[in-house]
Parts: sequence; structure tokens; C-alpha cells
Amino acid sequence: MADVYDVIVIGAGPTGENVAKRAVRGGLTAAVVESELAGGECSYWACMPSKALLRPAAAVSEANHVKGAVGARLEVSGVLARRDKFAHYWKDDGQVEWLKNAGADFFRGAGRISGERAVKVADAELRARQAVVVAVGTRAVVPPPLAGVKPWTSREATSAHE
Ligand SMILES: Cc1cc2nc3c(=O)[nH]c(=O)nc-3n(C[C@H](O)[C@H](O)[C@H](O)COP(=O)(O)OP(=O)(O)OC[C@H]3O[C@@H](n4cnc5c(N)ncnc54)[C@H](O)[C@@H]3O)c2cc1C
Repeated sequence: MADVYDVIVIGAGPTGENVAKRAVRGGLTAAVVESELAGGECSYWACMPSKALLRPAAAVSEANHVKGAVGARLEVSGVLARRDKFAHYWKDDGQVEWLKNAGADFFRGAGRISGERAVKVADAELRARQAVVVAVGTRAVVPPPLAGVKPWTSREATSAHE
């Protein structure tokens, strides 16, 4: 039998998380389906790790422009360790907890629209009384001629370990 919610959100990135929270705050029930990590691109391969990587270089540059401050330099292992912490070591327990505290049910797996206001995820069949929200974000597009040289997208750049 299907689990029934007012709103089903596919994708637990910043968009999906906020849709679910606002739906619940407005008195509706909500389920969120996520195939990878709750928090989405922003938390693990975009906003958070990119800023964590950029900040030390900016701080060193600023320090070296202050008269009397000498010798500020980057230590790569420290920069990467700080980035890992900002990306929560690519674990989403905290974000899943946030969603649950926001009042939404969480389903792990690839969501597929299987009918009118119906979503399949793993073995579960979800139905929406009101709406299915598709908040699946985007991915970098690698033009076919470049695919063979395995270029870095923002994912590889923000999660590099050396
Ligand atoms: C390098 C970089 C730096 C950035 N820095 C900033 C910044 O500083 N500030 C800022 O505001 N924005 C920044 N952005 C933009 C920000 O990352 C995006 O705007 C934001 O992640 C979009 O959120 P979203 O929820 O729409 O999509 P996403 O974050 O992509 O989330 C979509 C989610 O849907 C899931 N999903 C996809 N298909 C399915 C499916 N079938 N079933 C279940 N789940 C599915 C995905 O796994 C993903 O978790 C940056 C982007 C990049 C690339």
C-alpha cells in the first residue's frame, strides 16, 4: 500500500529541503526523496567546500599585505582537512536529522514519477494528495569530445584530496 503525503519532494538539496520545511510549516505533510546525500550539491560539492577551499588563500593573501605580519603561508593538508570538515566528511546524518526535525519523512533512493502524483523509491510507493515537487538540481555537462580526457567538474575540484 502507498504511503500518502500532501507533498512529495524529489531531491533534498537546498531547494527541496526548503520546500519540505515550508510545506510542513503551512500545515501539510511532506516526504523527501534523495538518491545521494541530503543537503545536495551545495553542502558537499559546491557552496560549502568551495568557500572552505578559497578562504585560506584569501586569508594568507590579506595577511601578507599587512605591514608587520610576515610569513603567512598555505599548508595544503590543513586546507583540505578544513574543507573535509565543512563538507561534513560527505556524510549527511545531520541533514537527515534536520529534515526529520522539520517534520518531513525521509526516503533514501532514486525517486521516479510512476503515475499521477505518484513516486516510486526503492520498494516504497508514495502518493501525493497535492503535488510532487521535482527539485533534482543540475549536473555539470561535459561536451562529448572532452569526456575522454576526464576533465574536472566542480565535483572533482571541490572534493580533490591532493
Ligand atoms: C562550485 C559551486 C559553488 C557554488 N557556491 C554557491 C554559493 O556560495 N552560494 C550559493 O547560493 N550557491 C552556490 N552554488 C549554487 C548551489 O550549489 C546551487 O544553486 C544549489 O545547490 C541548487 O540547489 P538545488 O536543491 O536546486 O539542487 P541540488 O543541490 O543539485 O540538489 C538536488 C538533489 O536532488 C537529488 N536528486 C537528483 N535526482 C534525484 C532523484 N531522481 N531522486 C532523488 N533525488 C534526486 C540530488 O542527489 C541532489 O541531492 C554553487 C555551485 C557550484 C557548482
